[in-house]
Amino acid sequence: MSFLRISRENFFYNLNQIARKTQSIDRVALVLKDNAYGHGLTLMADLAAEAGVRHAVVRTLAEAEAVRGRFETVLVLSEIPEKVPENGVRVVVNDRSCIAAMPAGCEVELKVDTGMHRSGVALDEVDRALEAIAKRGLALKGVLTHYRGADEMGSDYFWQRRRFEALRDRLERAGLKGVRWHSHNSAALFRCGSFEEDVARVGIAAYGCLRLPEPFEAPDLRPVASLWAKRLSTRRLCAGARVGYGGEGELKEAGTVSTYDIGYGDGWLRGEARRPYRLPDGREILGRVSMDMFSLRGEDEKVCLFHDAGEAAAQFGTIAYEVLVRLSPHIRRVAE
Ligand SMILES: *Cc1c(COP(=O)(O)O)cnc(C)c1O
Repeated sequence: MSFLRISRENFFYNLNQIARKTQSIDRVALVLKDNAYGHGLTLMADLAAEAGVRHAVVRTLAEAEAVRGRFETVLVLSEIPEKVPENGVRVVVNDRSCIAAMPAGCEVELKVDTGMHRSGVALDEVDRALEAIAKRGLALKGVLTHYRGADEMGSDYFWQRRRFEALRDRLERAGLKGVRWHSHNSAALFRCGSFEEDVARVGIAAYGCLRLPEPFEAPDLRPVASLWAKRLSTRRLCAGARVGYGGEGELKEAGTVSTYDIGYGDGWLRGEARRPYRLPDGREILGRVSMDMFSLRGEDEKVCLFHDAGEAAAQFGTIAYEVLVRLSPHIRRVAE
């Protein structure tokens, strides 16, 4: 069976690097959405709790339910509960219509749209939203925003951050207390000079795949997941033999070819046989990737598809996030 190897050591290393930026592990809210970026939800939640992480961020209530108990707070980004969730679970208000839909007594954090225009209430609607939250009997626990381009050169990060800080100043002067303020994702945290908010919502950096373009300093992080496939079968083939669907994998010389147990059914990208994927050891996938298999010269019992999802992503013209979150939950996750 194929498996995803999870390096505890690298994960702890990354959390330590992150905690140095936030100046305390207490100010890290680890983003565990989408099966912990494909790494395995409960496995990564356990490791995070072991490392002293106290706050988590997830997408759904089901994810919150699965990790709750390990963390003081779990923030749900994208779902409205029907009844008040269990202790410590709080829910993001993504626009004003969410407020009426929330059950009275629910703990919420208000998302503010400072310029990304994907979710959150507009800055000039914040006061009305706060009133509606109070009237509905919801408990406001935080205010957050999200950057549209913290991982890109340019001023977006700075003006969005200024808007958020101005809002904080204004509301705190008006008497708003007891809520946490947060805006930084991984890229923002690693490019900001000094971090001064209550928590940072960190995902990709914890998994070791944060990339920042020049001239930003490359963050010192280590990829946590490596993907391994196991050999299913082997055959000797003559020169000119063509392997797999469409016969696109043509052997220039006679040789040994094996088939391995990962395909696009496991979430591995199918890519194009004309631009074959290159493994870390330099070999190329032979012919088309099938639903559950791919072929390769040689007969190793197991082969590594990537040590660094970012390098794999670059070959497919995508980002590490996509390579990771696509990995099927059926692939075994093994912490070492
Ligand atoms: C996914 C997500 C994050 C984490 O982003 P990374 O780039 O992985 O650090 C933070 N905040 C919100 C709102 C998100 O949706």
